[in-house]
Amino acid sequence: VTKRLESTDSESLLFELGGPRVYRYRELVEQVAIVTGGAKGIGRGIARVLVQAGARVVITDIDEAEGRQAAGELGVEFEALDVSSRDSCRHAVQAIQERLGPVGVLCSNAGIFPQAPLDTMTEDDWDTMIAVNLRGAFFMTQAVLPGMREQGYGRIVLTSSITGPVTGYPGWAHYGASKAGQLGFMRSAALECARDGITINAVMPGNVLTEGLKAQGEDYLREMAESIPTRALCEPQDIAFAVCFLASPEARYITGQTLIVDGGQILPESFEA
Ligand code: NAD
Repeated sequence: VTKRLESTDSESLLFELGGPRVYRYRELVEQVAIVTGGAKGIGRGIARVLVQAGARVVITDIDEAEGRQAAGELGVEFEALDVSSRDSCRHAVQAIQERLGPVGVLCSNAGIFPQAPLDTMTEDDWDTMIAVNLRGAFFMTQAVLPGMREQGYGRIVLTSSITGPVTGYPGWAHYGASKAGQLGFMRSAALECARDGITINAVMPGNVLTEGLKAQGEDYLREMAESIPTRALCEPQDIAFAVCFLASPEARYITGQTLIVDGGQILPESFEA
């Protein structure tokens, strides 16, 4: 676990994997790629790997300070937006297209996950969760579609979760609903876009080693690593590489699908079922 914690810096991870140029999808070069929720966590990892793949990445986030800092560190652009607002999504995409040209890749990743026990969950708890996680995916997809249809090409990748679609955790009924909802949205949307060269897929991470999880301490992380078949904690880059593949032109024949990236975490649960 300690070794994995030490290697959370993605530069060193990429170095371990053989250098930053190793994982390069040739045709992502020059493609405009929007990452929502790119200021930190998984989104930041996605942005970094897309940069390594040669894309012209735009980090978008509701947190302007963190977003600008992350963008500065990666040498990419930043655009503030709130994915739960249709107008905000439209304006941001329009501004990006005016500056950089047509968008080839959308990584719809922004999400929230505050817990709320079922008995005391308020209407507001529910609505906010759905507004960010589910409506956000819809608004962003709708905002990039006209440009993608016009160029006859597009890759949309949603960050869903195993929580909801395949498993559950107490306190996360609303989160699970939002993540399962993303997949329902994705499958039908994929069919509506298939003729225009646009694919829509989703990755489903297990537990990912982001700041929140790291704060739980070494003992917690060691226990968690031991409960995962691969015995390794998932880093943002592990999700990012899967996203990068689905965002590549090479993945043109994959649409409406989900890719679970969880180190085999849910397999034992499937066997028990
Ligand atoms: P995070 O909190 O580290 O990052 C999420 C980012 O989204 C933040 O920068 C935040 O400011 C941004 N954001 C929140 N609300 C927004 C809004 N309304 N508009 C624009 N940006 C907004 O979280 P993370 O762990 O990196 O999670 C990213 C995605 O991965 C989420 O969709 C989450 O559900 C999913 N996921 C995470 C895990 C995990 O273990 N961390 C597991 C499965 C799925």
